[in-house]
Amino acid sequence: MSAVADIPAIQRNAPIPTWFGVGGSAEQLCRVRSIPDLKHCIQTDPLARILGDGANLLVDDDGIPELVLALEGPEFGKVQIFACTGKVYAGAGAKLPALINKTVDQGLAGLETLAGFPATVGGAVVMNAGGKFGEISQFISRVFAIDRDGHELTLSHEQISFSYRHSGLNHLVITGAEFQLQAGDTAQLKARKLEVMDYKKRTQPLADNSAGCCFKNPTITAPLRLPDPDKGHADFAPGARISAGMLIDRAGCKGLRIGSAQVSPQHGNFITTDKQGKARDVIAVMDECTRRVREQFGVKIDPEVVIWRRT
Ligand SMILES: Cc1cc2nc3c(=O)[nH]c(=O)nc-3n(C[C@H](O)[C@H](O)[C@H](O)COP(=O)(O)OP(=O)(O)OC[C@H]3O[C@@H](n4cnc5c(N)ncnc54)[C@H](O)[C@@H]3O)c2cc1C
Repeated sequence: MSAVADIPAIQRNAPIPTWFGVGGSAEQLCRVRSIPDLKHCIQTDPLARILGDGANLLVDDDGIPELVLALEGPEFGKVQIFACTGKVYAGAGAKLPALINKTVDQGLAGLETLAGFPATVGGAVVMNAGGKFGEISQFISRVFAIDRDGHELTLSHEQISFSYRHSGLNHLVITGAEFQLQAGDTAQLKARKLEVMDYKKRTQPLADNSAGCCFKNPTITAPLRLPDPDKGHADFAPGARISAGMLIDRAGCKGLRIGSAQVSPQHGNFITTDKQGKARDVIAVMDECTRRVREQFGVKIDPEVVIWRRT
């Protein structure tokens, strides 16, 4: 009998919920509610994959054989706010939008800049999620995790190599994070949060199934000239970080459809999916965008979305 039989509440052939709404199942999925259970699961399958809110995730249509762990329940959903010091603790399974609302209500500034996208705290930390208005690492003081041997770790901000959409923490299981926020005015913070959300609503196809931006914005290493609908062309110097959405747009991919997946006509870096769609169509659209951008502009674009495939 397999050792995973010991793990509580294991589900077999469980669908993996993602914001793309496509993709296969987990042969084994466990909704973990405590650190001891988490350690047990990791010891049972050190290659276990961690599911957050599934907002940056594409799962292969064939599903995956590894154990999938979702961190849930009061322990992983815990939020503690110390308004007088600005310190905030959130469990890895806490939902970021709810955390933002709570900190704004308590007059704490910082996280409102991250409004308008779905995430768990764990997923947002690993991805160093953010955008035009800020990224989560700016507000993190400590991260709590367990390693693949089941050891508990506490990492200070300085020990983590945060950079654009990168934390270097993917090999760990994040169990919680501590934030240091600043005192602010609740009414002003609410207004700022609405401004951030309004910007996203105006520029992104938020009503469609997607994982937000599919590609990271690349930093170019050679001079780049792109066609520009207003000025004829636009020049970029080496070292500039270029919008992947603009590159995809200028490569003529906006609206490109393959089967059930399409480059959004509204935003070149969003790939949207039809109901009952296929992950392979998303991958085909991503491959085609990558190819056209490379061939037309000599620029390599790398996925921001995490793809879970059978290894
Ligand atoms: C409409 C829409 C808009 C979006 N806009 C933005 C945006 O503006 N900025 C932005 O940065 N992102 C954006 N995204 C992408 C997504 O919201 C973020 O990447 C988010 O941080 C993903 O968090 P998650 O909990 O859903 O992680 P998941 O998608 O579930 O997982 C992502 C990765 O994190 C890992 N992971 C998750 N939890 C843990 C954990 N506890 N420990 C270790 N690893 C873990 C997973 O294994 C996976 O590798 C958007 C997505 C959508 C659908």
